[in-house]
This record gives sequence, structure tokens and C-alpha cells, in this order.
Amino acid sequence: MNVTFSDEEIAFREEVKDFFRTRFPQDVIDKQRLGVPLQRDDMIRSQKSLHEQGWAGVNWPVEFGGTGWTPVQKYIFATEMAEANAPAIVPFGLSMVGPVIYSFGNDEQKQRFLPDILASDTWWCQGYSEPGSGSDLASLKTRADRDGEHYIVNGTKTWTTLGQHADWIFCLVRTSSDVARRQEGISFLLVDMRTKGVTVKPIITIEGDHEVNEVHFEDVRVPLENLVGEEGKGWTYGKVLLQHERTNIAGVARSKYRLKKLRAQAGEAIRGAEPLALDRNFMRKIAAVGVDIKALEYTELRTLAAVASGKAPGPESSILKLKGTDVQQALDALYVEAAGYYALPYVPDQYTLDAPGENHVGHGAETTTSLKYFNNRKASIYGGSNEIQKNIIAKHVLGL
Ligand SMILES: Cc1cc2nc3c(=O)[nH]c(=O)nc-3n(C[C@H](O)[C@H](O)[C@H](O)COP(=O)(O)OP(=O)(O)OC[C@H]3O[C@@H](n4cnc5c(N)ncnc54)[C@H](O)[C@@H]3O)c2cc1C
Repeated sequence: MNVTFSDEEIAFREEVKDFFRTRFPQDVIDKQRLGVPLQRDDMIRSQKSLHEQGWAGVNWPVEFGGTGWTPVQKYIFATEMAEANAPAIVPFGLSMVGPVIYSFGNDEQKQRFLPDILASDTWWCQGYSEPGSGSDLASLKTRADRDGEHYIVNGTKTWTTLGQHADWIFCLVRTSSDVARRQEGISFLLVDMRTKGVTVKPIITIEGDHEVNEVHFEDVRVPLENLVGEEGKGWTYGKVLLQHERTNIAGVARSKYRLKKLRAQAGEAIRGAEPLALDRNFMRKIAAVGVDIKALEYTELRTLAAVASGKAPGPESSILKLKGTDVQQALDALYVEAAGYYALPYVPDQYTLDAPGENHVGHGAETTTSLKYFNNRKASIYGGSNEIQKNIIAKHVLGL
């Protein structure tokens, strides 16, 4: 694939740069730079600014309000978004349930849900995993039993990311146990979080953040019209979504940007210490990550090209997820190593945009490197653990 930019692509890159400099919420970019945690409103305002520009549906077909961009334009957009240090798009609406609805939903569902997803007027969360059903997702037990014009849903979903903000949840539910293969009895159901019987309980993660939840369903009545596609075909739709999710998780452009920043930081004599660039061992580790990122970039471009020609991302999305998250976690560790003991103290409640770094030994974003390190241990677990990705690669790519 040709990655030398044409004049039109260079002009597009300038347009994207200008957008992030002038029309994207600058206070959100400042928070990102200083490591201040983003709130729901920050994420919505960011995505709305993309929508106003017509750039929210990066991968969506034009007929549903998508950009219609070429793979190279998508690559440029992702690179410039990372370079601007703008936050990643919250994936559950725009990158996950949106594509499932426009691919498998009926016309009524497309009209009802897609415009609000594109405009970030509804916040979605993902209800796949359950206590006891993660890697072996087909063992899920949340039931949806028919009762006239409704399903009655009972069960528990877990690790539901940002479910505390959500208006809607898309769920894999069991609609039949009388099937030859467990996967066949699973359906894809959209549930309004305000429905009676839905309860959200926080799970606090290792770094002290409230990012994930348990969602309980107790006799929740869901209209039959909220079933996407055919009953019993949810596994097929859910798999397509997972491949999109894995491609997104790789976050190659962001890793490239973080590596560039780390290289620059290593060249500085911070607080009178020798620049890390003189430490050959540290620089060897930086170089190794750089080589991995270059290889990943080309794998991602190949995947983007396949998606542009109408294919869903295939098993190569597992390679991207596996190597992409390996690289992210290697970078997390190198940032902590670079900050040294300045990475240690962190009191989230006292860390605000008005007083970044006050009440800490370190300075600015340095104080949040360990927070990021611990938070991002999740990257090798969510979207299907990295061990599971290795199994998929062995079976579907290597044919073992
Ligand atoms: C921060 C975070 C956010 C998440 N967000 C969401 C969300 O929004 N929505 C959602 O539905 N889910 C979400 N998940 C759940 C995530 O998808 C699951 O945690 C993941 O699929 C692993 O399942 P599990 O936790 O049940 O672990 P298990 O499946 O119990 O696995 C435990 C360990 O055994 C290994 N293992 C299991 N089976 C095999 C095998 N066959 N071969 C080799 N090794 C194996 C795994 O790799 C893992 O190391 C999130 C998870 C985290 C950590």
C-alpha cells in the first residue's frame, strides 16, 4: 500500500490539524496533557465537536452519516488526533453498537438509534461479560424470555465500562437453551438503562477509579422491537463487533505519539539529572518499542484497506489487539521508569486542572504515570484477553 501522501491528502492533514487546534475543546486537551481525569461532559463535548464537523462516524458508511474516508484519510485523522493529544472516542456507541445496527438492524432501528449515536446524544455501554463468563462468553446465563410483546431479562453483566453514564446497554442474552451449539441460543438485545429492574453498581479498580460496573437485571421488560437482527443470531453480530473493538484497542497512532514524547523527554536534563538518552539500556528499550510500532502501523493500514473494500476486520484484528496492547503496556512501564520516584505519589481527589501537580512531589502529568500504568493493565484483558487472541491467531491465522 502506498503511504506517500498526495497533495489532496496533505491538504486534508492540514484541515485536521487546524480542526484540533481551533474547534476541538481546548480545555479537554489541557486536561489530557496534565493527566486530569475526564468527566462525562468532557467526553460528550469532544465528540459533539467531531459531529459538528461531520467526522464522528469515522468508519461509518456515508449513507448513515459516516465520513466515507479512504484508509489513508483515516490513518491521517487517527495520527493527528493523537498528535493533538485529544481523547480517544468512547467506543461503545460510535465504534460498536452503531456498526451492528447499521449492518444488522431493521430500518426502524436505524432511524431510531443511529442519529443519536452519531451526535453523542445517547451514551451506550457493552453488556457481554458476566461473572463466570468472560473468555468463555458462550456460557453466558443472562436470560431473555418471551412474554407477549416483551422479553423478560434476568441476570448480571460485569466489567461494564462507564455504565454509570449510560442511557442504553447492548447485551448478549440467552433466548434459548434448546440448541445444538451454545452460541446458537444467544441474541443481541438493546436495553434502555432507565427501565425498571436495571441496577448499576460500581467496581473500583486498582488505581482507585470508578470506570467499570456490575449491571443487574431483575425482571426487566424489554420490547421485542429492541432485538437486533434474528433471534439466536446474536453471537454472529457480537463477533463482528468484537473484531471492530480489537482493531480500535490497538491504538497505534496514540502509541506512536507517546513514544515521540518519551524520546523528547529522554533528551532533556530534568531537575539537573543526566538525560536518560545517555542511558543505553533505556534507549535500547525505546528502540525496541519503536520497531514494534512501525510493524503495527503497517498491519493496521492493511486492516483499514480491507475494511474499506467492504470486508469486516478478520482474525488479523487479534494480532493488532495483542501487539498493540503489548506496546501500550511497554510504554506505560517506560514512562514510569523515566519519572522514577516522581511517579509515586498520587492523590486523585486533589488533582484538578486549577492546581495540577500541587500536593504532589512530581510535576504535572508525571504524577499520573503510575496511575496510567495500573489502569492500563486492563488492556491485555478487555476486548478478549491476550491469551485468547493467541488462541485465535494459532487457529485462524496459522491454521494450527
Ligand atoms: C477494565 C476492563 C473493562 C472491561 N469492559 C468491559 C465492558 O465494557 N463490557 C464487557 O462486556 N466486558 C468488559 N470487560 C470484560 C473483559 O472482556 C473480560 O474480562 C475478558 O474477556 C476476560 O474474561 P474474564 O475476566 O472472565 O477472565 P477469564 O475468562 O476467567 O480468564 C482468566 C484468565 O485465564 C485465561 N484464559 C481463559 N481461557 C483461556 C484459554 N482458553 N486459553 C488460554 N488462557 C485462557 C485468560 O487469558 C485470563 O488470563 C472488561 C474488562 C476489564 C478488565
